[in-house]
Amino acid sequence: MVLFEKAPAKINLSLDVLGKRDDGFHEVEMIMTSIDLADRVELYPLNKDCIKVSADNQYVPNDERNLAYKAALAFKNKYHIDHGVRIAIEKNIPVSAGLGGGSSDAAAVLRGLNRMWCVGATMGELADLGASIGSDVPFCIFSKTALATGHGEILRDIASPPPCYVVLAKPNIGVSTRIIFQQVDVGELKHPNTQKIIRSLENKDFTKLCENVGNALESVTFSLFPTVQRIKEKMIQAGTTGVLMSGSGPTVVGLVEHYSKAKRIYNGLRGFCEEVYIVQLLDRR
Ligand code: ATP
Repeated sequence: MVLFEKAPAKINLSLDVLGKRDDGFHEVEMIMTSIDLADRVELYPLNKDCIKVSADNQYVPNDERNLAYKAALAFKNKYHIDHGVRIAIEKNIPVSAGLGGGSSDAAAVLRGLNRMWCVGATMGELADLGASIGSDVPFCIFSKTALATGHGEILRDIASPPPCYVVLAKPNIGVSTRIIFQQVDVGELKHPNTQKIIRSLENKDFTKLCENVGNALESVTFSLFPTVQRIKEKMIQAGTTGVLMSGSGPTVVGLVEHYSKAKRIYNGLRGFCEEVYIVQLLDRR
């Protein structure tokens, strides 16, 4: 029987880089939440012990490099499963966009296989397994607003944002997270105030949230891809108060309280930027 899982994109409300560790990872501090832009992951059981993966997007590999494939392999090894699975991914999340699409597909596969093969692993166990696949996979297991530390795999639940619309603007470029982190000089970064953002979430204070959102990687991505900075400026000119780049970019996120204003910003950005979306937050506790 075929099984479906939704794989929502994430956005950053903050991203800070605190230092570089001896193991090569950067120590980060990020506030992330999920949005209602999602891939659709279908899982078909196979009697043969193999993993097949396909995605309807030319930039996504249909082999063992796909994070969904890696997730299925890790799950099979961990729980000693000798059945197979065919994974079909309908990509709606832009690729290499800073929206965590690959990580979310991997998380969806872990959740889905747990159901399909009746393994009974807890979400925490799936998150631990996910950390071996990618730093953002644990967050994507839960898709709830969280503070992520370590290299992104240590999660603490925090209050969800006040209700708002999210305008996403993505230029027609893909940004490699690895290359951006290679260029990071921690002493040169502008650090967001993570604690102030957490307090604004606890108080459901939209104005304070918008004043404090920030991403320390912006200066690095902007210097390599000036078009991303221009999109941010354009969004601010259009009257958006809470604007930041998501992940290592290139997607720029604007938080907007009312739909009519979100629509105006959306119209202003279309034509200037290849892909523009208005989405809502998933975590509305
Ligand atoms: P990150 O910040 O983790 O790099 P991102 O949102 O910027 O996330 P993704 O869309 O997750 O980027 O993809 C990054 C890279 O991973 C691309 O080079 C892509 O080819 C590869 N990839 C592997 N599996 C997937 C997948 N299922 N979906 C999207 N990309 C995938």
